[in-house]
Amino acid sequence: MAIIAMKFGGTSVADLDRIRHVAGLVKREVERGNKVAVVVSAMAGETNKLVGWTNEAARPPVEGIPMEGSGGKVLQPIPDQREYDVVVASGEQVTSGLLAITLNAMGVKARSWLGWQVPIETSAVHGSARIEGVPAFEMKRAIEGGEVAVVAGFQGVAPGHRISTLGRGGSDTSAVAVAAGIQAARCDIYTDVDGVYTTDPRIVPKARRLEKIAFEEMLEMASLGAKVLQTRSVEIAMLHRVPTRVLSTFTPDVGGTLLCDEEDIVEKKPVTGIAYSRDEAKITLHKIPDRPGIAASIFGPLADAGVNVDMIVQNVSEDGKKTDLTFTVSRSELARALAAIEKHAAAIGYRDVTHAADVAKVSIIGIGMRAHPGVAQMMFRTLSDKGINIQVISTSEIKVSVLIAEEYVELAVRALHSAYELDAA
Ligand code: ASP
Ligand code: MG
Repeated sequence: MAIIAMKFGGTSVADLDRIRHVAGLVKREVERGNKVAVVVSAMAGETNKLVGWTNEAARPPVEGIPMEGSGGKVLQPIPDQREYDVVVASGEQVTSGLLAITLNAMGVKARSWLGWQVPIETSAVHGSARIEGVPAFEMKRAIEGGEVAVVAGFQGVAPGHRISTLGRGGSDTSAVAVAAGIQAARCDIYTDVDGVYTTDPRIVPKARRLEKIAFEEMLEMASLGAKVLQTRSVEIAMLHRVPTRVLSTFTPDVGGTLLCDEEDIVEKKPVTGIAYSRDEAKITLHKIPDRPGIAASIFGPLADAGVNVDMIVQNVSEDGKKTDLTFTVSRSELARALAAIEKHAAAIGYRDVTHAADVAKVSIIGIGMRAHPGVAQMMFRTLSDKGINIQVISTSEIKVSVLIAEEYVELAVRALHSAYELDAA
């Protein structure tokens, strides 16, 4: 007998029929002699609807009237994030209750647990809170007593007993954190695809499902744009060594991908997977002074404005005095980044600033890269053969990322997928 954590995403609980199907999978696990905690998302589309409502509610009654303190500009008002969390967390409350009712109706003893009841303790960063602890002692006793725990994903409780949420896609993180908190033997993430693929199968039909992927690789894949799992969930799985599987709700008995330690992967190809992200924007500061402290004078204000900077290149100055600096941020942060730069124009001392949002990032990922020389070179050659210009490069031990024009993303991903021999036969 073991404790198993199971997680079902929005499409898996999209209506009552699907919830019944999910209950069947839970029942099967119980009949195998396991104790179960299930974590659920909101019904597909529900969270988007709730987010829309919070934005609508925050709008002032008369359009076009500047808000107080906006300096005369008409701003898109942001709802109070604590109340936003109260609203958007409700989707998971509904599905946790419905699944518990369905399980009981099938003769499986179950009860729902909301984030604050577990409790899933989080930071106070409403809208994208981090889980800080899951002291789920009472829940674990109930599970050991034979009752299925149905946990509302995505939500937690912040200091001051306020409801918090973990950022979009956060129920993956709830599931892995619950699994770690109750020392589950395994965390099974049931979703609408049957595993993690070498790249997005919608772009490369010859993409292959991976039997196994190292935690480190999955972390890079998730943070570089693969949308299968929320990045934070992989961090927690890695930190607490939770054996985590990704499998399909609709074909649970075929396929699946296991996230595991690097040592458990025997055959290490140079490249395991290719990720891409269109959520990129590029900013270039022209003719900045080439002197100590210049980078700090640029990235300090950006950090203060809460902007995450990703790739950075600084050119060598031709005359030893002036140089150009290019960096990338996510598209949603472009306006904020530009505002922060312009506000500090005098201190930085650039001649002008240009930006572009029609760029995308393509990355190759693989732990095998450490042992294989020439991996990056093959990437550059492949892209140049296709006439694709590389604008910015960044690397780590197990990944190489390039920034290219957005229109070439699909071409680049396909070419790289075959160059690294990832295509299915
Ligand atoms: N329902 C939340 C969302 O749509 C959390 C999740 O599904 O993981 O982002
Ligand atoms: Mg998801």
